[in-house]
Amino acid sequence: MKRHYFLGLAAGRKVGAAKQLFTIGRKKHLVALEKALSKRYDGTAILCKNGRSGLAIALGSYFEKGDGIIVNGFTCYAVVEAIEAAGCVPVYADITKEDLNFNVATLKKLVDKSVKGIIIQNTLGNPVDIVEIEKFAKKNKLLIIEDLAHCAGVRYPDKREVGTVGVATVLSFGKDKSIDTTSGGAVVLRDARDWTILASPRLCDSARARWYPTLAAWCRGLARLHLCGALMRLFVKLHFVEKSADNKLDTSRRCTKWQAKLALEQIKDLRRTGEGKIRDYCLVNERDKCLKELKKAGYHFDGFWYERPVSPERYYKKVNFPEKECPVATEVAAQIINMPRYYPRTKLEKARKIIKSYLVEEEK
Ligand SMILES: *Cc1c(COP(=O)(O)O)cnc(C)c1O
Repeated sequence: MKRHYFLGLAAGRKVGAAKQLFTIGRKKHLVALEKALSKRYDGTAILCKNGRSGLAIALGSYFEKGDGIIVNGFTCYAVVEAIEAAGCVPVYADITKEDLNFNVATLKKLVDKSVKGIIIQNTLGNPVDIVEIEKFAKKNKLLIIEDLAHCAGVRYPDKREVGTVGVATVLSFGKDKSIDTTSGGAVVLRDARDWTILASPRLCDSARARWYPTLAAWCRGLARLHLCGALMRLFVKLHFVEKSADNKLDTSRRCTKWQAKLALEQIKDLRRTGEGKIRDYCLVNERDKCLKELKKAGYHFDGFWYERPVSPERYYKKVNFPEKECPVATEVAAQIINMPRYYPRTKLEKARKIIKSYLVEEEK
């Protein structure tokens, strides 16, 4: 039987292992990437170590310590980490099941004097109702920051491209993000103050990013022999492999030159609407049972993202998430199954059949 593996380790498959190992980047690629991002998103681009560092830079340049920042109630720990690093306070907005985003009705309940900004995330590539949210933000004097980790290249319902609306735009080049060079990121500030060129990355971070697709491929290969768990744990322990959520926030360093070269290629490819969309997902009842059944058929879909409103699980307790105020996000986190987009649809046919009998809603 053919087996399909989608392990707890993010795939990081946009760039082939060999290409990632041997691409040579130069200073001109850093400059070209900055230029491309500055032009596309109409501001001043700063290349960063990862998305969360870019977000921390954006927050730090537009907000004061103690400001409340509205954030999607169904998000990644990286976002919360950045808000806290900037000294701001996350204000979680519950989502709807239709698009996993907040809407204006929810936002209305959250604004008070301390709230000064909104981070728009366009969860898993589903765009928010930007026209209404923009009106609302203007009326309440809230600044919008757009986080494109899930959605680079996607368009809002009014046809504007994501990343062209707010005061700042953040990109992640992390594993399985819209643009994927294993790590790295950028921020574009529409109104740049105190802009500085960041320092070169640490050699060990660069080496880790270089080797990630290779080591992940080995783990996946050995999965057939049921050795992958042990090998993966060993790689993580030796710091050869870093889990996405553990990538450290550091606003003093940039991505590498070879990452700039690879990111540049991917950004040029984001021409068509929706290409940056990162995941297909569906909501199921009895997820544990469903995952077990999938596993039996060779689909290891556990270790997916968003098993908690703020994922991953191991960081969830830290954030003190208000489950009572975000019941939909809490429920969705218990129901969601993500399907990798890098598999051809035919390979997932059997998985879809299994999932079908558990579905809560139409598949997105
Ligand atoms: C992954 C992610 C980021 C940034 O992640 P980094 O690992 O710091 O690059 C930001 N926002 C969201 C919603 C994400 O999922």
